[in-house]
This record gives sequence, C-alpha cells and structure tokens, in this order.
Amino acid sequence: MADRIAPRDDIAMMDGYHSPQVSVDVRLNTNESPLPPPQAFLDAVAVQVAATEWHRYPDRQATELRRRLAAVHGVGSGQVFVANGSNEVLQTLSLTYGGPGRSIAVFEPTYAMHSQIARVAGSTVAEGARGADLALDLDEVRRVVAEARPAITYLCSPNNPTGMVESAETVTEVLDLVEGIGGLLVVDEAYGQFAPWSALELLSEDRSLVVTRTYSKTWSMAAARLGYLLGPSWVVAELEKVVLPYHLDALKQAAGTIALDFVDDMERRVSILTEERGRVDAALRELPLEVWPSAANFILFRPTTADANDVWQQLVDRSVLVRNCSGWPGLTGCLRVTIGTTDEDDRFLTALREVLS
Ligand SMILES: *Cc1c(COP(=O)(O)O)cnc(C)c1O
Repeated sequence: MADRIAPRDDIAMMDGYHSPQVSVDVRLNTNESPLPPPQAFLDAVAVQVAATEWHRYPDRQATELRRRLAAVHGVGSGQVFVANGSNEVLQTLSLTYGGPGRSIAVFEPTYAMHSQIARVAGSTVAEGARGADLALDLDEVRRVVAEARPAITYLCSPNNPTGMVESAETVTEVLDLVEGIGGLLVVDEAYGQFAPWSALELLSEDRSLVVTRTYSKTWSMAAARLGYLLGPSWVVAELEKVVLPYHLDALKQAAGTIALDFVDDMERRVSILTEERGRVDAALRELPLEVWPSAANFILFRPTTADANDVWQQLVDRSVLVRNCSGWPGLTGCLRVTIGTTDEDDRFLTALREVLS
C-alpha cells in the first residue's frame, strides 16, 4: 500500500477529548441533569416530529428558536447565535476569531474544550494559571493578556471543574483588559442558572463580550446537542458566515423552542439540585477530603488519605462513575462528582465511605 495520508502535524500530536463512557449503574461524570424533561415537553416534541417536512431543509436562520431565546433574555434576535451544543458555538468562535497566527487565552484548570477547540482551529493557546486556591488571579490575567494579546479570552462561570463563580467586578475588569488590546471576552455559562448572577447583565452592542449557554445541563437535553450565544449583533453576523448552512436540524430547533415553554420546570429542577448539592457537600466534608464549594451541579474534591486514581477505580468497581480530573493541569489528585438523584448520590456516598475507610 502507498503511504497513508498523515493528518496536520499539530493534529497528529493531539490527544482527543477523554470522557470514558463506562457502563455503570450510577453515572455522575458528565454533569448532565439526572432528571428528564417533563412528559408534556416530550408530548409536544412528538407532535412536532409528526409535523416535520422531512424532504425540506430546515429554517437556516432558526428564526423561531432565536426569537424565543431573545425574548427569554430580553435581547434582539440578531444578538442570538444557535448551534449544535455550546461546543459548536465555541468552535465557531474559534474559527471566526482564532486560527493560525492568533492566540486564545484560558486560565487552567478550566473546561478542557476551550483550549482543545482553539488548537484544532489552528490557534495558539496562551495558558494562564489560577491561584493555589483555584480562584482566578487578576494579575495573571493582566500578564497573559499583555503578553499574548489574545483574540479570544475565556472565562467560565461557574467554572468547570471547580464550581467557582466570577464576580461582576472581576468579569468587568477582565472585559476592560480584553477590550484594551482589541480582543473578545467569552464567558461560558453552561451552569449559569445555578449562579447568583450572570454576565448577561453586562452585554451591550458596544462591548466585546459574548456569553454562551447550553441546553445540555439545566435544560435536561444533553441528547439533543443544542447551545447558544448571546452577544453583540456584529459578532453574531460574523459567526453566521462561518457556520455550515442548515447546521441546526428542524427537530432540534423545534425541541429547543418547545423547551422554552417549560422554564418553570427547569427552574424547579435547578432548585432541587441546588438543595441536593448542599446535602452531598455536607456529607463529603465528613470524609478525609478537600472539598471546593460549588455554585454548579457538581463538586470538586481531593482525597487526602488515598490515591485519586485508586479511589476512582474502586468507585467504578462499585458501579459508580465520577470524573477523574487527576491528570488535568493544576488538579493533581482531584475527582469531580455530578449531583444526581438522591438515590444515585446515596450510592456514591456509600461507595466512597467504603473506599476511604
Ligand atoms: C457541559 C459544558 C458545556 C456543554 O457543552 P454542550 O456542547 O452544550 O453539551 C459547555 N461548557 C462547559 C463549561 C461545560 O461544562
């Protein structure tokens, strides 16, 4: 056989995204909602499935979905960009504003896809570090922004995997810094509904700020792959040039629109999970663990008397899957557990107590 084609050199050297899909009873590793959407939502989606014109392309502008999201957030339709999961939103941002010769700033530890997508798009990643307590360090942000002059700077609030929220003062200060070098600030709010405030408050047509959201977590729709961005219309217009035509299928547009009729149910699920998070947090604090306070639907913790890889494996042996963050930058020895149902969390806590005893 002739020589096989090789990928781009930078792709050949890359690791892919690692989130093992192990078959276990209790899956607390990807921050999905443990609760499905309400039956009335499923019924309404079924009606839409029957009414779908399968032989026609979907509405390329996703007019209705964007109109409804705009109404929910009090912005104009032209300030909403929708895509296949917020990951596709981030990818479109990277392809539009990043790429060869441009850099993208992240502050580790944070959501791994920010740097991964930036690299795939050919951007240089300017990596800043958080402080020892894993909080954002504004001096470090100043240093990275001044040295790398990144096209895009990422914040994540609440931050995955630490659960920490950035304050309005911090986000405003970072935004000023980013605008000072002609960059764009992206605030990833995948867990925004759990947080006490949102960077959406700072959005304006003349600020270089966008906020991303997803249906994968609080909306209980991870299976659908739907996310969106809110930001200035001049950003949305550029993203529309880059994304593939008809990228968002008709069913997904319908499901995302119908979901917005069930905001109260979503908020109820968020408050159930917030209360349950308090219970799990208190139980974890009884064990030999370092525990980070979380404003999201997961908790980061570090065993202080056992090896994290062993703990992870022994939990898997008890059919409980959490996320092993031990190999992530700045997170040696850390694991992350998603808040599940009371039963799932009890199974996790029982298994963890056994493993640590
Ligand atoms: C889960 C998550 C996402 C969601 O990505 P989707 O592609 O919308 O499923 C985005 N950002 C962060 C920080 C996340 O944790």
